Amino acid sequence: MVRIKSSQKFFTEDEVANLTGICLDHLRALAQNKHLGKLVRMAEAAGAGAEKWLFTNSDLMILTVLYPRCQH
Ligand SMILES: [Zn+2]
Repeated sequence: MVRIKSSQKFFTEDEVANLTGICLDHLRALAQNKHLGKLVRMAEAAGAGAEKWLFTNSDLMILTVLYPRCQH
């Protein structure tokens, strides 16, 4: 069971990985395949490749219901 603060609107990929037990690699693949979440460029991060997935509350619920936590 995933418990989240209802006041929280967006979740970073790291938070979602923690909450769902889905690893970052699989999480990013799912996000791309299923059009969940959105890819944002982190303004404060230096250098290239500083893109992160952000997920909404409902994205998180879908991931929780549809996908088991990683077992590898
Ligand atoms: Zn995985």
